[in-house]
Amino acid sequence: MKDMGRLYDAIIIGAGAAGNYLAYRLAGLGYEVLVVEEHEEVGQPVNCTGIIGAECVERFPLFEGTVLREVSSARLFSPSGSELRVSRDSVQAFIIDRAAFDRALAERAQLEGAQYLLGCRAEDVEIRDEAIRVKVEGRILEGKTVVVASGFGSPLPQKLGMGRSGDLVMGAQVEVSTDGLWEVEVYFDQEMTPGFFAWLVPTSQKRALVGLFSRRNPGAQLKELLSRLAFQGKIATPQAQITYGGIPLRPLPQTYQSRVVAVGDAAGQVKPTTGGGVYYGLLCAEVAVTTLHGAFAAGDFSEALFSRYQRRWKRKIGKELRLGYLARQLYERLSNRQIDQIFHIVESRGIHEALLKSDLSFDWHSKAIQEGLKHLGPWRHLFGWRENIFGGRLRESR
Ligand SMILES: Cc1cc2nc3c(=O)[nH]c(=O)nc-3n(C[C@H](O)[C@H](O)[C@H](O)COP(=O)(O)OP(=O)(O)OC[C@H]3O[C@@H](n4cnc5c(N)ncnc54)[C@H](O)[C@@H]3O)c2cc1C
Repeated sequence: MKDMGRLYDAIIIGAGAAGNYLAYRLAGLGYEVLVVEEHEEVGQPVNCTGIIGAECVERFPLFEGTVLREVSSARLFSPSGSELRVSRDSVQAFIIDRAAFDRALAERAQLEGAQYLLGCRAEDVEIRDEAIRVKVEGRILEGKTVVVASGFGSPLPQKLGMGRSGDLVMGAQVEVSTDGLWEVEVYFDQEMTPGFFAWLVPTSQKRALVGLFSRRNPGAQLKELLSRLAFQGKIATPQAQITYGGIPLRPLPQTYQSRVVAVGDAAGQVKPTTGGGVYYGLLCAEVAVTTLHGAFAAGDFSEALFSRYQRRWKRKIGKELRLGYLARQLYERLSNRQIDQIFHIVESRGIHEALLKSDLSFDWHSKAIQEGLKHLGPWRHLFGWRENIFGGRLRESR
């Protein structure tokens, strides 16, 4: 059945951070916007720790009322338990209530006039010359443009001929009770979290999120970590359910088609180093707004015009994604013994302090990667790294 007579300017698939932001901005510019979300409620279920860099909060003044606390330090633990504390005087990041943030952003979008169709899954998208057809539970909705903001693992980009991310990792997380813990803790251990890391993030004086990303069985690994933390007296045994989610580690080969853009996790716009995707998703959503606005102004919905979106977002974060992924590949090859050695070198040489004093950022990692490798260069034989990745001239993989 076709919804007769309605041709939306933009149909946005997915009411996550990226989709809600686009709805808010496009509706604010006067476009007729429909958001289609498969869950009955915006922000549920949530698969996010909610750590957002200070730059993101400054750049996008959208977080009011959703910030739980500020972060200016963290404790990093090596596989054998050596500790490295990194701290700055100023606030580096905020921990937000991610579900509340998504809801608040959707409310802003609705106030601007965006309409929401909740509890409805977009099953298919068909590009036609004059419009796009979105199949939603037996109905056909029509839009002049479509934004695919359907998050991690969505089959829609591939159906639209945009390809697949090519690499991904699964995460698991649970809320726990704590008593008086305040600093964020990050654990590196290739046996527990092969290729990745685990975290304990206090969200209040009494609660924390414990989670990890791992290429192997994240649920079982998380249960092991929880027992270890409970044994150390850091947390109480969790009562809540473990939630699971994934992140793409590489962008889609193509993030546009004629009349279509993919944004956020659906496009693979996530930091490959940490798995943080909210900021890059918002930055790319802003680029998508510019592209769509330009298409309407020119009356041109061709693939050539929409290809500008990919060129523009790659100019912003392309290098970060490439170098971040390369750093991830180097890290994945390290053994626990080598990670312990890196902790030792970094601490004994004060490398972490030197890095903290430079203008390194929570959200932009390419410089930190290059600087870090330069500092570690003299010990490269310990890690089996090739000569040509040092001296600040890290070779990028494409
Ligand atoms: C365990 C974990 C911890 C994380 N922690 C952080 C963190 O601390 N900081 C950070 O920046 N990032 C973090 N991330 C990553 C972050 O959660 C994502 O990058 C971010 O949510 C991406 O936003 P999005 O809008 O692209 O997608 P999503 O937030 O996933 O939204 C996509 C929406 O689309 C809907 N949808 C999907 N398919 C359809 C369909 N066919 N029809 C209709 N609706 C559909 C979904 O229901 C969902 O609501 C974490 C990820 C995980 C897994």
